[in-house]
Amino acid sequence: MVLERATAPLHGAMLPEPTPAPGQLLVRVHACGVCRTDLHILDGELPHPKLPLVLGHQIVGTVVGEGRRVGIPWLGWADGECRFCRAGRENLCDRARFTGYDLDGGYAEYTVVDERFCFALPEDYSDLEAAPLLCAGLIGYRSLRIAGNAERVGLYGFGSSAHIVAQVARHEGRRVFVFTRPGDDEGQAFARELGADWTGGSDEAPPEELDAAIIFAPVGGLVPTALRALAKGGTVVCAGIHMTDIPAFPYELLWGERVLRSVANLTRSDGEEFLALAPQVPVRTSVEAFPLEQANEALERLRRGQVRGTAVLDVATS
Ligand SMILES: [Zn+2]
Ligand SMILES: [Zn+2]
Repeated sequence: MVLERATAPLHGAMLPEPTPAPGQLLVRVHACGVCRTDLHILDGELPHPKLPLVLGHQIVGTVVGEGRRVGIPWLGWADGECRFCRAGRENLCDRARFTGYDLDGGYAEYTVVDERFCFALPEDYSDLEAAPLLCAGLIGYRSLRIAGNAERVGLYGFGSSAHIVAQVARHEGRRVFVFTRPGDDEGQAFARELGADWTGGSDEAPPEELDAAIIFAPVGGLVPTALRALAKGGTVVCAGIHMTDIPAFPYELLWGERVLRSVANLTRSDGEEFLALAPQVPVRTSVEAFPLEQANEALERLRRGQVRGTAVLDVATS
């Protein structure tokens, strides 16, 4: 399924099977998770994607000729030599290339990957169940780490990433406060099933101050809302790659050593740590499967907030 230009729907096309360059693996795609970032690329909200482009950066597949199962994440390549890479921050690499953005991704039957940038996957997960771990899980995990040792964690938006982070946070003995779109009773019930201590609309104040809040919804107006819910010394983490403008807010919301920051991309060590932790929790991913040809429908359902957990394209699972 190919993106020819921003804002046009994806269309089905027969492309030649990709040829792996030295150091790359040819991978038969089994499943590919749909991420909000894919929607931002489709909508033209992120600059300069490769075009035409195959979206998708939560890929589960097998290496052709070996049968080994691998997971392919958003970070597809880093140079290993810039000042960020040398400091263990390859997520910020100046020349990073991202899967399903700079490189063709997993909305396809085959893809190629640099063998240094794919992961072994825990065996307890089926292909469909494993796909959401690769971005929703990973970015959520990095966001939670960056939030520090917060005891009371707020999650704004309860979609693909938050439904995984809530389970990890509970496993670590934290308390979880979930904010959904006002009136989303179904989303709130889902959050309570996964262990949320409190749920409410994003227009509500939590019953106690939060030590950290992670914003998954791409809505800049939630930044002052989350800061307002924060205790002194707390952190607001913006976990998405794109957000609408953040409205002006009074300095007193930041005063008291509150911190506002974003989380960007992932490092391979984030991936290794999280994929080892997930089966111990154990994280249970909730997925809605769509055939590859229905990628546009999956994206539209995500846009409308109608996916429970993660939408995953079932390309060739058995
Ligand atoms: Zn670098
Ligand atoms: Zn993603």
